[in-house]
Amino acid sequence: MDKLDYLVIGGGSGGLASARRAAAHGAKTALVEPKALGGTCVNVGCVPKKVMWNAASVAEALHDAKDYGFSITREGFDWGHVKRARDAYIERLNGIYARNLEVDEVTRIEGYARFVGDRAVMVGDRRFEAEHVLIATGGRPKVPNVVGAEHGITSDGFFELETQPKHVVVVGAGYIAVELAGVFCALGSEVTLLLRREQFLRTFDAMLRETLMEEMAKAGVNIMPCVDLEEVIREEDGTLCLAGRDKQRFTGFDCLLWAVGREPNTDRLDLESTRVTLDSQGNVVVDDMQQTTADGVYAVGDVTGKWQLTPVAIAAGRRLADRLFGGQADAKLDYENIPSVVFSHPPIGTVGLTEGEAHERFGQSVKVYSTRFTNMYHALTSRRTATAMKLVTVGPKEKVVGVHVIGIGADEMIQGFAVAVRMGATKADFDRTVAIHPTASEELVTLR
Ligand code: FAD
Ligand code: NDP
Repeated sequence: MDKLDYLVIGGGSGGLASARRAAAHGAKTALVEPKALGGTCVNVGCVPKKVMWNAASVAEALHDAKDYGFSITREGFDWGHVKRARDAYIERLNGIYARNLEVDEVTRIEGYARFVGDRAVMVGDRRFEAEHVLIATGGRPKVPNVVGAEHGITSDGFFELETQPKHVVVVGAGYIAVELAGVFCALGSEVTLLLRREQFLRTFDAMLRETLMEEMAKAGVNIMPCVDLEEVIREEDGTLCLAGRDKQRFTGFDCLLWAVGREPNTDRLDLESTRVTLDSQGNVVVDDMQQTTADGVYAVGDVTGKWQLTPVAIAAGRRLADRLFGGQADAKLDYENIPSVVFSHPPIGTVGLTEGEAHERFGQSVKVYSTRFTNMYHALTSRRTATAMKLVTVGPKEKVVGVHVIGIGADEMIQGFAVAVRMGATKADFDRTVAIHPTASEELVTLR
């Protein structure tokens, strides 16, 4: 192959987006990917996770249906059916991604890439050289260094489960722990969630994590804080026992799921043959233009270790291609005010500074507005979930620097409010906006 303008390593969210944008600008582009296209998000992340969250939401609606006058007999839940339908959906998506690359004239190279110089890469025994090389190799789930850890699965294994486990223990305290614990619980598994500290979602606004802890406990998740795990033991009856250093034992599980974070896919890249620098966690070090420490080599997405979200990888990848090939010299992703949703039960939507962060940064000038109520959906249901909302404002103009919501609909609510925050809206702008009634979101424009 002649020398390329752009060689993209990794066919996930960031790599695909960047390669397609570069090709649209006329760059001669190739993309290296050893597995099905779409990366983590499509194959073992956002997409299959959202299908399972939807299934869990259907289970909740079925539970509530009788309160709305329906005669419903629930005859069980076929996990295998959902898995097969989900896998088929993902296969269709893989095909769409492959066709998109063809249409956009991005050459696909199958295999693992490894560097043999800053802008030279081998895939198998084929050598490729390019003017610009992008590392978009994402990450993989971490497994903690605990005796017997091999008895557990990770989120990747969750998506391979053919049948629903009955007694699940989830270890971890981030997005994946609360999301998958919530799915298992809503679908009828008994769930224990082991935290090594007192709380989960530590970096989130306190109102969100405290409300979610209450809601998950109310839904039946057995949350065990401050567990210093020492060992996982497979008992003679095949069940798993988790033993803490203080002799605490948690027994009788048919599934252990590790959700303790992710690590970057940098180890197979032979980066020693380049001037690319890694941080202490193995993440590729980049500046705010996604430039690594090697000329002509860039990185976006999870492999850089910050804001591990699909739209972030996509946006960073597209901006980079716009800068390199689209004549937009200043194009770069602004990492401030990135909105995010935790698909918990109920869901969380959040953007901007937490109350704690705002106080640290702006001190006395922070003013917070919050509310807590029960969504009208529950007026007729015996099952109740809380809704809680918070606006964090700063300065005499009360510029809104944080919007935090937990409750039914928070997942679909936050995107629009993120636009307002990005535009620098003030509390007065929120107040001037006419409410939409009857909704939960109207509370955000009527806070006192
Ligand atoms: P990836 O999508 O991981 O793609 C990297 C690709 O590089 C992979 O296809 C891999 O095979 C390939 N690769 C690796 N090494 C090499 C090599 N040497 N040569 C060539 N190719 C290589 N984000 C959200 O925004 N919303 C969500 O709801 C959400 N849910 C998630 C749920 C789960 C369970 C998980 C695990 C993640 C979730 N995420 C979510 C995060 C999201 O999936 C990632 O942030 C996103 O996929 C990162 O994109 P990426 O391009 O950086 O990497
Ligand atoms: P996270 O980084 O979100 O959370 C992992 C947490 O697990 C840590 O913060 C830590 O919490 C805890 N932990 C770490 N090591 C241990 C250990 N040995 N024992 C017990 N607990 C431990 O990682 P996830 O794996 O949940 O998700 C990875 C990333 O993927 C997320 O950060 C997010 O960016 C993305 N993602 C996004 C989703 C979305 O947008 N909805 C959904 C799923 C994933 P502590 O230090 O408090 O103990």
